[in-house]
Amino acid sequence: MSIHDVCRGCGHAVAWIVRPVRERNDRLMIVESTPGADGEAHRGWYEAAVCAGCGLTQFFARDYDAGRAAQPIDPCRECSGMTGWTIAEAPDNVDTDRVAPMHLRLAPVKFKFSLMLGGTGWRGTLAARICASCGAASWFCRPEDYPAEDKGASPRSKRVCLRCQGACTTTRLEDHDAEQKNALSRAIFVGKPNFFGFYGEGGAFEVDVCLSCFAADWYGTKLNELRERPDDGVYRITRGGDTPDGGGPYR
Ligand SMILES: [Zn+2]
Ligand SMILES: [Zn+2]
Ligand SMILES: [Zn+2]
Repeated sequence: MSIHDVCRGCGHAVAWIVRPVRERNDRLMIVESTPGADGEAHRGWYEAAVCAGCGLTQFFARDYDAGRAAQPIDPCRECSGMTGWTIAEAPDNVDTDRVAPMHLRLAPVKFKFSLMLGGTGWRGTLAARICASCGAASWFCRPEDYPAEDKGASPRSKRVCLRCQGACTTTRLEDHDAEQKNALSRAIFVGKPNFFGFYGEGGAFEVDVCLSCFAADWYGTKLNELRERPDDGVYRITRGGDTPDGGGPYR
């Protein structure tokens, strides 16, 4: 199994592999969480291939046991596989025994209301679809109902939708911590804590959401902050080759 030899967004052949993708506090970015007898049961984790040229990121589900039969899906963009699983509300691994929907802000509240209402603006959550053959994830945003007259202008991405060529808004996952209400960048790489308990981070993810079909694609930014860290699962590779430990998309 291999991913495309070049990025399907820009044709670049070099990519960063991040395996696994970590959240802060040593938690992994998980594929699915289902309620179990002992609290939430986490199913699978993600690794990512981030294009070193344009940042387009392909996530792959690893060790993912959906516990249900695969269903027909649109052909996988990586391997053309025709079956997979849909996770209607992709979980953010917030804390031990606590997951939350991944929220994105699609548009701010219109300025004329902002002083009176405050509010979060037009938001949506993310759904993921996992290819049963190769584990590649494709993402969709599920927009929440929101009054059109209260919608401010969506920040426009310079990129177009890879699925339908429609205009996209560019956004970031919103943080769930009450003390950190502002939307924070989701780091691409989160290292182990140092002596002082600080987590090294590098890069940031942003998410383009198509305003026509609501397909969502993740892009890495601040890639100059990334360094090869084999001990932490970060490699810079030429697509089609092998990573040092032979796993992942190049297994
Ligand atoms: Zn690219
Ligand atoms: Zn596939
Ligand atoms: Zn689209």
